Amino acid sequence: MILAEIKGYNVQPIWIKNGQSLASLLFRFFVCVVFIALVFPANAEDNLNIAYSARVVGDNERARVLVDFNQEPKFQIRYLAKPNRIIIDLEETKLALGDEQLIPRGILSDIRYGIMAEDKSRIIISLNQPAVLEDQQLQVLDGDTHRLVMDISLSDQADFDAVMEEQNWSFVDTTAPEVEIGAKGSRIRLSEPKTSDKFVLVLDAGHGGIDGGAEGRNGAIEKDITLSFVQDLQEAFKDIDDIELLLTRDSDQFLSLSARVQIARDAEADLLISIHADSIRQRSLRGASIYTLSREASDEFASNLADSENLTDVLAGLHIENAPDDVTGILVDLARRETQGFSDVMADRIVNDFKGQIRLLNNPHRRAGFRVLLAPDVPSVLIELGFLSNLTDEKLLTDPKWRKKTTILLAKSISEYRDVILRERK
Ligand SMILES: [Zn+2]
Repeated sequence: MILAEIKGYNVQPIWIKNGQSLASLLFRFFVCVVFIALVFPANAEDNLNIAYSARVVGDNERARVLVDFNQEPKFQIRYLAKPNRIIIDLEETKLALGDEQLIPRGILSDIRYGIMAEDKSRIIISLNQPAVLEDQQLQVLDGDTHRLVMDISLSDQADFDAVMEEQNWSFVDTTAPEVEIGAKGSRIRLSEPKTSDKFVLVLDAGHGGIDGGAEGRNGAIEKDITLSFVQDLQEAFKDIDDIELLLTRDSDQFLSLSARVQIARDAEADLLISIHADSIRQRSLRGASIYTLSREASDEFASNLADSENLTDVLAGLHIENAPDDVTGILVDLARRETQGFSDVMADRIVNDFKGQIRLLNNPHRRAGFRVLLAPDVPSVLIELGFLSNLTDEKLLTDPKWRKKTTILLAKSISEYRDVILRERK
C-alpha cells in the first residue's frame, strides 16, 4: 500500500506538507535565520571591545589623550618618524567615536583613526614637534569603563629617534598578497612577449583609508586628491579606444603597496601609473615630478620622498621586506632592464607633454626606490602632481579645472605611448 501511495503522488520529502511550496518554506527558513541573528548576535561582535568616548586636552608643551572602553583594552603604542607620529594599535576593538572627540591640540597636529583588519583598530596621532609618551595609565572607573590615559610631552628629535629605535614592529601582515620578486614561481613575462592589440593600463590613486598621505596647509588630503585625479583620468579615456583600464581603488580604501603592484601584475598590465601629491618643509617649492624606479635615488630629495611614500605600509602595520636591493636573479634583472627602459620612455613623454602647460619641478624626471614601482614586468611611473605644502599648488591640486586640463594631457601622453608599444609589438 505504501508503495502504491508513493507512486500515486509526487514524491516529496516528508517535512513538506501537502499544499506547501518550496518557496514558502524557504521564506520561513529565512525569517527564522533573521530572527536568530537579531536575537543572538554573532559572538565575534559580542566580544569586541568598544571605544565609545575620547578627549584631548593640552597646550604647547604637553597633551593628554583619554579614551574610554567598555572592557580592558589590549593595546600597543609605537612611534613613527617623518613626520613624527604616535601610533596606538588596539586589538579586538571597534572605535565608535564622534568626529568632535579626538580634536588635535597644541603639540598634536592631527589625529586619525580607523579599522586595520576585521578586529584591529588604530589611532594615529601626528605631532607638530617631537614629543614622547611620558606616562600611560589604565584606570578602571565606576561601572565597567576602562580609561586609557596617555600623557605626551615635548622632547627633542634625538629623544624621539631614540625611543623609535628601541621599539620593534612585531607583527607581519598576513592578508596582503605577496609580491615575491625573484622568488620561485614568480611570473616573469620574458620568453613570451605580448602580441595582442590590447593595452592594459592600471591607474593607482595613492594612499587611502587609514593612510591619508600628505596634508595641505589648507587641509587638502593627498588620498582624496589622488582619487579625484584618477577618476577624472578615467573620464578622459572615455573617448580613447583600445585601452583596457583598471583602477587599484575607486573608493576611500586602504591598499598596501604590494597589493597595488600585484593588481598590475595579475592584470598583465602594459603600464602602471601611480598618482601622488607631495609635501615638504620648504614651502616655496612647487611643481610636478615624474618618478621611475631606481636602486639608487637620483638625489637626496628623491630618496627622502621615496622613504616617506614607502611608509604607507608601515603606517598600516605591514612589514617592509622586499626592498629593491633584495631583487635577485638574472631573469628578473633582464626583465627589469627592459621594463625600466619602457618606464623611462613613458616618464620622458609625460615631462615633454607637460612642459609649458603644467608647472614642473626642475629635473622633473627623477629616480628612487618607490615600492609601488617594483613590478619587474610592468613598466611603472609615479607622478607627484605637486606640493601640498605650497599654497598655490594646493589650490591647483584641488581645482577641478586644473585637474581636467592635467588629466587630458596625461591621457594624451599615455595613448601616444600605447601607440608606440603596439607598433613595436607588430
Ligand atoms: Zn603619496
